Amino acid sequence: AKNQGRNNCQFYSAGLSRTVYENLMLESALRNAEERGELSLHYQPQFDLTTGRLIGAEALVRWLHPELGSISPAQFIALAEESGQIVKLGEWVVRNTCRQIKQWLNQGLKLERVSVNVSALQIQRGNFADSVGQILRETGLAANFLELEVTESFIIEAEQSFAILDALRQMGVELAIDDFGTSYSSLKYLKRLPIQRLKIDRSFVQDIPNDLNSNAIARAVIAMARSLQLETVAEGIENSQQRDFLMAEGCQCGQGYFFGKPVPVVEFTQLYLAGL
Ligand code: C2E
Ligand code: CA
Ligand code: CA
Ligand code: CA
Repeated sequence: AKNQGRNNCQFYSAGLSRTVYENLMLESALRNAEERGELSLHYQPQFDLTTGRLIGAEALVRWLHPELGSISPAQFIALAEESGQIVKLGEWVVRNTCRQIKQWLNQGLKLERVSVNVSALQIQRGNFADSVGQILRETGLAANFLELEVTESFIIEAEQSFAILDALRQMGVELAIDDFGTSYSSLKYLKRLPIQRLKIDRSFVQDIPNDLNSNAIARAVIAMARSLQLETVAEGIENSQQRDFLMAEGCQCGQGYFFGKPVPVVEFTQLYLAGL
């Protein structure tokens, strides 16, 4: 069934843009994905670059459709945003992540935080801060274990949503800016936002240390973050040269295939609880 799924899935990939009909089909399938148990979360570990200690993870949503096979989040998140389903889907991700963190802490896994990706639309529609607060109460998780990643473009588009981020920060939730450096953002905003971290986008990390422009950008982001008293997390670290460069520049935290790919809960627990 999985191979068949792969074949069918070619339909949607390889640069062919999907037709309106295909989009509608996927969108309606996504509506039932949660209750049919087709959604799951993978967790990618994050490490302290200097000590090598596990800091936490990033939760990444997965959709395994029985016929279409695995559909990439890049595809279905965009659809969920267009159709408004992202509010419900995003809430599912936050709730499941909070439950999982709680369970890992109970099992004795030493974690500082686990981050969840949050779409701009999710914050703008519905009452996002209330919903996060409700989930934290319901799961009994201390807010500082949850980190929300908002994209840089959100900051530019949604100045009116700053109050929501303030409310979340007041609760004690950690906030990071994802994909930093990929779109224009003003330093004025950076200072005004109640954030703790910047995530250096993989597009810069991947060409370190051979591409001098990427080196310069990474170095500048880390220096700027430091002067604003923000931590930096580098994403997409795939080799030790990249890790060494980023560590030497003062980046605190890293994530990428060099350390570990996103994996299902069971595997994550086996890999990182065993090391105690
Ligand atoms: P992102 O937030 O930038 O997540 C990082 C992506 O890079 C993930 O892709 C991850 O699997 C991949 N990655 C991590 N390390 C490496 C590496 O060393 N090399 C390479 N080549 N790739 C690496 P993924 O899981 O396909 O997710 C794609 C995007 O979908 C995410 O990008 C995020 O924007 C979005 N996404 C995923 N889960 C959620 C979610 O629950 N909610 C929302 N709103 N968006 C999500
Ligand atoms: Ca992210
Ligand atoms: Ca990212
Ligand atoms: Ca990225």
